[in-house]
Amino acid sequence: MHPFPLFDEIAILADNFERSYPHEIIAWSALRFGKELAMATGFGPEGIVILHILSQVAPETTVFYLDTGLFFPETYALRDNLGGLLGIKFLRLASSLSLAQQTEQYGPELWAREPDRCCRLRKVEPLRAFLKTRQAWITAIRLEQTGNRASARPIEWDAANGLVKVNPLVNWSQEQVWTYLHLFELPYNELHLKGYPSIGCAPCTRPVAEGADPRSGRWVGHKKVECGIHLQDEEK
Ligand code: SF4
Repeated sequence: MHPFPLFDEIAILADNFERSYPHEIIAWSALRFGKELAMATGFGPEGIVILHILSQVAPETTVFYLDTGLFFPETYALRDNLGGLLGIKFLRLASSLSLAQQTEQYGPELWAREPDRCCRLRKVEPLRAFLKTRQAWITAIRLEQTGNRASARPIEWDAANGLVKVNPLVNWSQEQVWTYLHLFELPYNELHLKGYPSIGCAPCTRPVAEGADPRSGRWVGHKKVECGIHLQDEEK
């Protein structure tokens, strides 16, 4: 395999993939990076679309999730359901610091006082350590989601983590995502039916009123809008 980054190649590919179907982008990524490719999922609707495609075009791809130990029971149930349905064995990544050790070191409920530190310990650091072992990763971000994601391209150089980032659904709308899930009768988190459009860790996720910003239920009472895994260094 030729080494990345070939920055010109990334820029050209990003332009070429702007109108491509996610299947094409994912299939190309699997062919280009092989075992050096991994996909990250938090079991959200977008991730489920990608998992479904991946299970058809590149089922050997490593799929990992960042287990903070604080997910809703419904999220863990969905993980198990998807694993069985799509034949995926999810790789669990977690902080070396247990929740008990975190409490001992930083006090109880760190997420309520310092959510940035909590996310860094439980998500960002384990992610960064893992990504050092890969050349490319697939994410489920979409342009519409938050301001921090508004400049994302189908393929881009992830400077913070030093590898290529592939965003196959970057140009999809929320409606397209849900149409796909219903069309293929794929399971999704039951909490979406109970007022939770965006689901993260249980202590940091609240239901939102109909029509509200889908991510407004995350880290309520804090300025925080991202867990930090999709921010570049200068944005943190
Ligand atoms: S989302 Fe909340 S509980 Fe989860 S890692 Fe971040 S701050 Fe901690």
